[in-house]
Amino acid sequence: MPRQTEIFESTVGLAPLPDETLFSWCSRYHRLAANGPASATCLQLFGHARIGSAHDFPGRIDVLVARCNGALGSAEQVIRDRTLLPFYWPFKPSDLARQSVAAMRGNGIAHLKYRLGLLTSGLGAAHPLKSCPECIKADLESHGWAYWRRGHQLPGVWLCPSHGVPLRVSPLKLDQVARFAWALPVPACCQEVVCLDKSAGKSAQGDWLRRLAAQGLALVGMSPGRFADPVRIAQVFRLRMECVGMLHASGRVRWREVEPRLLQLATNLSCLPEAHQEADMGLLQGQLARLLSARSLAHPLRYLTWITAWFDGIDDFEQAYESCGMATDQAWEIAASPRTSCDVATQRQVPEEILTSIRDGNLSLTAAARQLRVSYATLAAWVCRAAIEPPRRPKKLDALSWGLALGMLSNGAEKQVVADAAKVSVLTVTRILRTVPGLQNEWHRVRHENRRMAAKAAWEKVTALNLHLGVRGLRRLEPAAYAWLYRNDHDWLKASIERVVTVHRANHAAVRMERSDARMADALRNVALACRWEAPRRLLDELKRALPALRKAIHSPEQWPLTIEALTVSLRCHRPAHPLLDQAGADEHADQ
Ligand SMILES: [Zn+2]
Repeated sequence: MPRQTEIFESTVGLAPLPDETLFSWCSRYHRLAANGPASATCLQLFGHARIGSAHDFPGRIDVLVARCNGALGSAEQVIRDRTLLPFYWPFKPSDLARQSVAAMRGNGIAHLKYRLGLLTSGLGAAHPLKSCPECIKADLESHGWAYWRRGHQLPGVWLCPSHGVPLRVSPLKLDQVARFAWALPVPACCQEVVCLDKSAGKSAQGDWLRRLAAQGLALVGMSPGRFADPVRIAQVFRLRMECVGMLHASGRVRWREVEPRLLQLATNLSCLPEAHQEADMGLLQGQLARLLSARSLAHPLRYLTWITAWFDGIDDFEQAYESCGMATDQAWEIAASPRTSCDVATQRQVPEEILTSIRDGNLSLTAAARQLRVSYATLAAWVCRAAIEPPRRPKKLDALSWGLALGMLSNGAEKQVVADAAKVSVLTVTRILRTVPGLQNEWHRVRHENRRMAAKAAWEKVTALNLHLGVRGLRRLEPAAYAWLYRNDHDWLKASIERVVTVHRANHAAVRMERSDARMADALRNVALACRWEAPRRLLDELKRALPALRKAIHSPEQWPLTIEALTVSLRCHRPAHPLLDQAGADEHADQ
């Protein structure tokens, strides 16, 4: 070990190459250290023979960072820049990112894979090692190493962003092959993917794969929880579809209009290895319905493929997502012309001098809106973000209705309910939300809290009444509450499940115990019958011999009530007979 430590210290300054994954860096270190067994390197770097060798979500990052003397940066930097984890963050609640980072700094994210959308997505949880033959050549020339780039490893990235050629796949790290080994890309070992080679030649599919790859690369750099709200995502998609005439006024989908897009998406998916099996119109219809009804899709790659169907790219989607809460007319405008030329609208920021004028009362909002060429409602929403409360337009609402609407919104009431109560349109209610500083956040918070209370209440109700069903049975009774709590209040749900499991197990154990007790009592009665002519003391010894397990009952009588009762009855029944029997026995002996 001292010798290994020496080698370790002399090479630990190995600098990571551009966009290199942690696994790649470790594999290069392994070559340099000439350690032989992979476990020796893993032990040196991660203090464990196996944990740390995963190519996608390696664990024990804290140990690695401490041992590297800063060669790779902080643990957060390593996870953010050199693993695949950040790809899964933007469409999930931000607390999941925090939990997954903590898990990866420890022993790994195994139990979080389900929540990250890996296990149930239908897209597979494996991340094949991918490389570009052109990059390998270029890297060998410029760095002397061929290495794994993080950008290539992301789900949905199948064309090299630099060279546009299809990526090749290594057989290692798949199906448990070389699971704990260190490996670097070798041209001879990286295999072509047939559907990719065909489609890269076709310009339409090749373009689509390029767009998808660009979206994946952009997604990995976005902040956790950026698109965590499936309700807002549904609104964004609905708005965009509405703009292109794919929704009825009632909000229902015009499937006939949508069909060509679905067909196009199905054709595109047939060249995407992860989703090859999903190139099916029926399946896509179901998925779109799910998306539009604000149910979340498990895997970020699914969102990315849907974004390609209606948006020019993830920037376009992000812009629409951002403007989704605006007054509908403005959002319409932006959704309809995503490449709006208005700088202000693109940046969604009000120039500082105009903000100052508004704040000082030197410029009215109407004049400023005209100057910036945006609607009054939009500007009102923007200045509200700068903590300026825009003047309320009295013609829309009288003081009474205003107060009522404000009160109801503070309590998290539905927009439609508020609109009905205050006798205004939903659009006006949206404007109130957007223009009273802090109100929208409070409204979302209260509504989130209400959802939490409702889900907890529903879950507690079924658990209280149906503990005997166990967790699986309870989930079937309340799938929605379970799913909501799983995503949004996992700690609470976990505690609840632990209680259920404990009680269920206890119940189960109790039933088992009762059955054992009954069986033992029966056995005891049978043995007692067989030896009923024995004296009580001899009877007990006989019973113990015939039934060794009886000792347990005697040691813990409270757990074996039926057995103890049977024993007592057997001994009592014998007692009155004993003197006579014993006497009779003695007489018999005497007679002989
Ligand atoms: Zn390349």
